[in-house]
Amino acid sequence: MSITEKIKELHDTLPEDVTLVAVSKTKPIADLQEAYDAGQRVFGENKIQEMTEKWEVLPKDISWHMIGHVQRNKVKYMAEFVDLIHGVDNFKLLKEINKQAKKYDRTIKCLLQIKIAEEDSKFGMSAEDATTLLASAEFTQLENISIVGLMGMATFTDDAMQVQKEFKHLKTTFNNLQPTHTSLEIISMGMSGDYELAIAEGSTMVRIGSSIFGARNYTN
Ligand SMILES: *Cc1c(COP(=O)(O)O)cnc(C)c1O
Repeated sequence: MSITEKIKELHDTLPEDVTLVAVSKTKPIADLQEAYDAGQRVFGENKIQEMTEKWEVLPKDISWHMIGHVQRNKVKYMAEFVDLIHGVDNFKLLKEINKQAKKYDRTIKCLLQIKIAEEDSKFGMSAEDATTLLASAEFTQLENISIVGLMGMATFTDDAMQVQKEFKHLKTTFNNLQPTHTSLEIISMGMSGDYELAIAEGSTMVRIGSSIFGARNYTN
């Protein structure tokens, strides 16, 4: 299937309340342009420099999502345009995003990344840490960021029961926090291999790369 066909298929089949983030990391501008021409407006990248280079040349009505792990010293390069940062997992990073957003007189939307996988390699904070952060006085002083939801990445495994359990954990964490933090609206979970399961477990935002753009080649 072409990129165009795949985008159209996803737009036709995803539930209306689920946002599609087209994960275009490592892919050339022409591929993003094709997805754009098929109607896609939300793109996810995991490297700040690569995202910035693409932002500079592509249409300005694209919503850019940073889905990767963010280094604090690089926030300044995306503060002018990034729409949503998925991978916030500590207060120091949040403080830096706030500081850089202020320079552009913007409010940057963020998701707290919750560690739901059992793998050690995945980033994220515990549900308890997220609760503490959201309740802290320091947090309420940050006026140029808005926490609009939670993000999680499941273990990379064929064990669907395991993945389902991890998605349920994110949904439960969201349900526990939402009543006292009503700005939380988004649950970002699900990728090419597990987005249907994620949606069944309450995802409102899926991050799909390889099934749109094909496998990534990290060697070029
Ligand atoms: C690369 C990436 C994706 C997309 O993965 P696919 O399996 O290609 O759909 C989703 N989320 C994050 C955080 C990623 O880094």
